Amino acid sequence: MKITLLGTGTSCGVPQIGCHCSTCMSNDPRDKRLRCSAFFQTDEAALLVDCSPDFREQMLRMDYDGMIDAVFVTHEHYDHVGGIDDLRPFSYMHDLPLYADPYAAEHLRTRLPYCLVENKYPGVPQLRLHTLHPMDRVRVKGVEVTALPVMHGRLPILGYRIGDVGYLTDMTQAGEGTLEALQGVRLLMLGALRHEPHPTHQTIEQAVEMARSIGNQPTYLIHMSHHIAPHAREQALLPKDIFLGYDGLELRLD
Ligand SMILES: [Zn+2]
Ligand SMILES: [Zn+2]
Repeated sequence: MKITLLGTGTSCGVPQIGCHCSTCMSNDPRDKRLRCSAFFQTDEAALLVDCSPDFREQMLRMDYDGMIDAVFVTHEHYDHVGGIDDLRPFSYMHDLPLYADPYAAEHLRTRLPYCLVENKYPGVPQLRLHTLHPMDRVRVKGVEVTALPVMHGRLPILGYRIGDVGYLTDMTQAGEGTLEALQGVRLLMLGALRHEPHPTHQTIEQAVEMARSIGNQPTYLIHMSHHIAPHAREQALLPKDIFLGYDGLELRLD
C-alpha cells in the first residue's frame, strides 16, 4: 500500500494569510501545508480520506489521473469536505461512494444537495452517500476499512483504520474501542495542532502519548498549525519514531 499525505495543515493552512511568523515565512517546502487529506493506494484500490478545499491542487500536484474507488469523510467541517465539488473528474464513469457518519451525512445533504439528489444536473459529481457508525467495516477492492469513534472536542467524529494504517485527525480523545481497534497498525497518522492546549485538538505532546499507548509503530503528525516551529527545528525535538508529516510525503507498506 502507498499512502500519500495530500495535506497536513490545520483549517487555515500554513502559511496563514497575513502572518509573518518564522513558520509562515519559512522557505522549507515542508512548512507549506494545505488542508488535511490522505490518499491510500493498492494495486487495485484508491481511497481518499477527506476531500479538502485544496483537493484540486493536491490532485494536480500528484499528477493523478486514475480512479478513486471511495471517499471516507472524518467529519463535516469545511477543511475536510470543501473539495467535494472537485470530485467531478473522478465520478464521470460511475457513482463515487462517499462514506460519512450520520451527522456528517446530514450536513453534506444540506450543503451539497445537487450532488446527492437522484436526478443530478449533468456534470456535477455523481456521489452515493453511505452512512457509517463507529466500528462499522467496509471492504473496498480488498482493503478493509474500519470506522473508529474519536472525539473532536465535544463532537463525535470518525477516524479510520485502513488495512494496517490508522488515520485520526481533529481529535482530543479516542472513543470507545478505538485504541483496541488500532492494535497492530504498522503506521499511524495523528492530528497534532501545536504545543499549547486547544479545546478541540490534541497537542503534539498528547499525540506522542497516544502513539505510545497504541504501540511503537512509526507515527506521522498531521493537521498542524503555524504555531509549531519550522519543520527542521520541530522535528529535532520529537522522539525518533515520531515524524512531522508534510504535504506530498509518500509512505509505503508491503
Ligand atoms: Zn480540521
Ligand atoms: Zn504564522
